[in-house]
Amino acid sequence: MTQCKTCSRCQEPKPIDQFGPSKQTADGLFRYCRPCKRASDNRSYAKHRDRRKPVRHEHYLANRSAYIARATAAYHADRNVVKRRAREWAEDNPERRRQIRLESQARRYAIDPERKREVWRRRHAAIKRGCSVYPFTSAQLEAKVAYWGARCWMCSAPYDAIDHVKPLAKQGPHMLANLRPVCTPCNTRKRDRWPLL
Ligand SMILES: [Zn+2]
Ligand SMILES: [Zn+2]
Repeated sequence: MTQCKTCSRCQEPKPIDQFGPSKQTADGLFRYCRPCKRASDNRSYAKHRDRRKPVRHEHYLANRSAYIARATAAYHADRNVVKRRAREWAEDNPERRRQIRLESQARRYAIDPERKREVWRRRHAAIKRGCSVYPFTSAQLEAKVAYWGARCWMCSAPYDAIDHVKPLAKQGPHMLANLRPVCTPCNTRKRDRWPLL
């Protein structure tokens, strides 16, 4: 039979592996079960966040490689545990989660807002025309342009636009496979001709 202990917070008897270690109790186990301990720690941290965040960050900066090594080891040992913790944290901190997501979006957007807007505009145009859209990243598009040596796929002049080989106007899909770098004269000449020959 598994040994149980009653959590002094939720009052539920739970197997002892549901309790973290403690130096202050006779049985060496914490008074609260892990979920209760977590909730209580989170509440306390949230309450004193302004004071405790800089301290925690100091500690992180001073022991950065140890933090990273521990996180990497934990991930390799059991990635489900890491994923579960991240999910639990997100459930406990919905506001903070949203804020972090927005911040990271803003950072990505700030890399090259002009290109991001252009990619978004082309995709939106494709959706409006009812063309199939298969999302890709601007890095993938960059790789595609590099594959063509950053030159027009028709005349090999330096490219200055992206061509939908099968035009959107002819229901060409908006996907990486249908995109190639093109120069403006060729692009103008080609317009929405399809088939090409
Ligand atoms: Zn409990
Ligand atoms: Zn050309």
